Amino acid sequence: MVAFSKRISMVKPSATLTINARASELKSQGVEVISLAVGQPDLPPPKSVLDGAREAIERVMTKYTPAAGLPEVLDAVCEYYNRFYDAGAKRENVIITNGGKQGLFNLMQILVDPGDEVLIPAPYWLSYPAMVILAGGVPKIVPTDPENNFMTSPSELEKHITEKTKILILNTPSNPTGCHYAQKQFDEICEFALKKGIFIISDEIYDQLIYPPAEPTSASKWFKKYPDKVAIVNGLAKSFAVPGWRIGYVISDSTVIKNLSKLQGQSTSNVCSIAQIAALKGLLGDLSFLEENRKKFLERRNYILKRINSIKGISCPEPMGAFYVFPKVDGLYTDEINNSTKLCEYLLDKAHVALVPGAAFGDDRCIRFSYAVDISVLERAMDQVEKALREL
Ligand code: PLP
Repeated sequence: MVAFSKRISMVKPSATLTINARASELKSQGVEVISLAVGQPDLPPPKSVLDGAREAIERVMTKYTPAAGLPEVLDAVCEYYNRFYDAGAKRENVIITNGGKQGLFNLMQILVDPGDEVLIPAPYWLSYPAMVILAGGVPKIVPTDPENNFMTSPSELEKHITEKTKILILNTPSNPTGCHYAQKQFDEICEFALKKGIFIISDEIYDQLIYPPAEPTSASKWFKKYPDKVAIVNGLAKSFAVPGWRIGYVISDSTVIKNLSKLQGQSTSNVCSIAQIAALKGLLGDLSFLEENRKKFLERRNYILKRINSIKGISCPEPMGAFYVFPKVDGLYTDEINNSTKLCEYLLDKAHVALVPGAAFGDDRCIRFSYAVDISVLERAMDQVEKALREL
């Protein structure tokens, strides 16, 4: 067998694979499995993005575009971000990427040298550590607690800083916790990190899925002040409900963007031209659907939170954004079912509900429920989960 690279051998397979494999097995036996493991919105995309894609096809837009994206699409990202956050972004500050994921991956590739350390507050989106490792870096996990709404702070980060610390990844609202930093709290962390000479990557992919009284938070003002020390990552997957169209973007200093473009130019080249025009029309189109979607998700969040917190042995902080809840369930662990993976396997077998173990996100005390499903589905799922947990 060919010798695989050390890099790929160091990356763990996704912890959701075991659950998905079991779920498929059950489904093939005719069992109806409800999946609350989803990471994408179930709501329809706005008409504007669909019209944009149709228009690109009608215009026969089949050619390569510049690696960083079509100029008018870069301008649309600037207009959108500047409108929401007064980011002061110009065309040369933006690159269109194959989802926020590629933006994050490529940032690690252009910023991280072997041995460089990247601070990642846990629970974290499961791809961050793998991306750091694939760039030759060292993920430095900074634990947080549910009692503290899974928030980190300058004093917590300080404990994990060494002379090799290069980057801090922030993600608000968070996948998997749904917890959200208010702008002031976020600013304190940014200010602290920047003073320490640490580059900030702000993953703002869920920025529009925020529930009142919370408001969106962004690293925009820090980008405006120190463009070469901050990169903002966002995309249309979650807020515009087009995850499969792979439209993300990075906003940063023109030197960062030039390096990202160089890498993209030698690897994947441009994002699909049809998806780019869809993004343009979406970003500049009617955005009233954002508020409608927020209302729908809020109703579901309130429902699932009430159900979860009524189960003995479980507690969950109130998530202020995204479409996940991440309750602490270790109070339910038994001698046999003594971790989040085993509890998820039990709930899949007994309740026929697929969930994601917290271990995948760096916190084995918790499990992740997604509420990107209809409320009637949530109701059935929670009835089944509650019954199975009573029999534990
Ligand atoms: N960041 C977070 C926290 C996510 O949850 C996801 C997707 O699940 C992404 C980034 C990447 O999104 P995409 O590549 O679909 O734009």
